[in-house]
Amino acid sequence: MTDLLIRNVAVLDGSAAPAFNADVAIDGGRIAAIITDGTSGSADREIDAGGACLAPGFIDTHSHDDGAFFRHPGMEFKLAQGVTTVVAGNCGFSAIPADPEQDSVAASGGILAGLEGEFTDLAGYYAAALKRKPAINNIMLVGHNTVRSQVLGMEQRKPSAQELKKMRDHVALAMEQGACGFSTGLIYRPGRWSETEEVIELASAAKPYDALYTTHMRNEGDKLLEAVDETLTIGREADVHTHISHHKAAGQPNWGKVKESLAKVDEALAAGQRVTLDVYPYTAGSGRMIEYFNLERISRDLAEVIRIASCPAFRDYEGRMLTEIAATEEIDITEAVRKILTAPHGDRTICIHFIIDEADIETNLAHKDMMVGSDGIPDLRGRPHPRLFGTFPRVLGRYVRERGVLQLPEAIRRMTSLSAETFGLTERGQIREGYWADLVLFDPATVIDMATYDEPKTEPAGIRLVVVNGEVAFERMDANKPGVHTAAGTGKMLRYRRTAFGED
Ligand SMILES: [Zn+2]
Repeated sequence: MTDLLIRNVAVLDGSAAPAFNADVAIDGGRIAAIITDGTSGSADREIDAGGACLAPGFIDTHSHDDGAFFRHPGMEFKLAQGVTTVVAGNCGFSAIPADPEQDSVAASGGILAGLEGEFTDLAGYYAAALKRKPAINNIMLVGHNTVRSQVLGMEQRKPSAQELKKMRDHVALAMEQGACGFSTGLIYRPGRWSETEEVIELASAAKPYDALYTTHMRNEGDKLLEAVDETLTIGREADVHTHISHHKAAGQPNWGKVKESLAKVDEALAAGQRVTLDVYPYTAGSGRMIEYFNLERISRDLAEVIRIASCPAFRDYEGRMLTEIAATEEIDITEAVRKILTAPHGDRTICIHFIIDEADIETNLAHKDMMVGSDGIPDLRGRPHPRLFGTFPRVLGRYVRERGVLQLPEAIRRMTSLSAETFGLTERGQIREGYWADLVLFDPATVIDMATYDEPKTEPAGIRLVVVNGEVAFERMDANKPGVHTAAGTGKMLRYRRTAFGED
C-alpha cells in the first residue's frame, strides 16, 4: 500500500504551468503517482487537502545554516515556511574546510558557530550533520573567506603561488565530495583583500564539475555596477555559471541602480554567459556589525538606520535602533557604535540595517532568473531579521497575491525547479513521478509571513503541510492551531548533480 496520499490538491508542479487538480501518492520517499482521473487507491495515511496548492518544497538558495544543522537540526524556522532544502556556505563563509587545530569558523564571527571540530572536509561535515537527524535537506558551497583564512590567516596580501594552490586544493576537494560551487563574500574580511585574479583561479576549480561561482559582491552600494562587472568577468574567465547573491542597491543614493545592474546581467545572458541571482523580500539587510564600520571613521548615515539583532555584550540593546539607544544613554550615535563594537564579544554583534528600496525588491522579483534566498542568520538569541522565519510566505503573500509583481506558478518555479536545476539538486524541485517527495501544501489565499522586526521568531500563516523525502515533517491542517513539527528527521545531505551523501 502507498505510504501517503494527499487528495484533492491544486498541483503547481514547479514548471510555471497553471495549477491542475490531482491526488498525489507518495511511496518510499518519492512521488509515486499524480492521479488526475479519480482512480487513487488507498494509503497508510490519507490527507484531504480541500483544494489547497501543492508545490515542490521551497529551496532556500541563500542560507547561512551550516552551523544550524548542528544547533537546531529541527530547522523549524525554515520548515514552517515550506523550505525543504537550503544551500549553505554562502558569502564566502562555510563550515568546511575545517582545521581542528584552529577556530575554523572565527572568520565568520560566530555566524557559523556551534561546529565542534568533528570534521575537516565536506564528507565529514555531512556525516556529522546526518547524525543529528536534520529536518530538511542541505547542499553546500565552499567559501572563499574560510579557505583563505585557513591558508593565509587574516593577512592583507596576495597569496604566494604555493598558497594559492593550497586554497585551490581545498576548493577542489569540496567539489569532488559534492559541493555545488565556490562562494565569495568580497565585502568581508579576508576576502576583501583578494584581487580578481585570485578569485578567478579558485572559481575555476568548480569548472571540471560544471558547478557554480556564487558571490556576495565586493560592493552593493556606490560601486555596485563595477562589482557586477567584476563578477561577470570572474564567471567568464573561470568559465562557470555565476550566481549573484542577495542582489540589491544599498543606500538611498543608489536606489534604482538594480535596473542598470540587471541590464548588465541581461547583456551577459544575451552573450551566452550563464548568470542567475537571488533576492530576499525585505528592505533591510543584516550581518555582522563590525564588517560595516571603520572605527576610525564611523558612518553616521549608516548608524542611523541600524537596529541591533543580537548583541552578546549588551543584551538589552537587542531589538532597538541605535538612534534610540544613543538617545537613552545620552551619547552620540557614533559613540554608541564604538561602545558596542569594542566591548567584549562586541565583534559578534549582528545588526539589521534599513538600506534597501521597496521598489528595487519588485524590480528584482520581476526578473525571470531571480530566485529567492532568505539570507537568514540562524542566531535565535535576540531578535533576528524576520527573513529567517518569513521569506518564502512573504513573497507569496505580499509580492504575488497582494502586489501582483509575479504570477503564482512563476513564483513557485523560481522557488523550486529553477533553484534545483541551478544548484544541481537531483530529482528535486518538481512534482513529477519518480522525483523525491519534497512537498509543501499551502493556502494561496492566506499564505503570509507573520515574523516582524519586533516579533521575528513567528511562524508564517497558510503553510499547511511540509513533506521531506516522503515523510510529513510539519503539519498545520487546522489553521486555528499552531503548527506541529513532527521531528521526522528525514533531511539528506545532497551532492551536486549526484545521489545524496551516503546513497551510492
Ligand atoms: Zn552575503
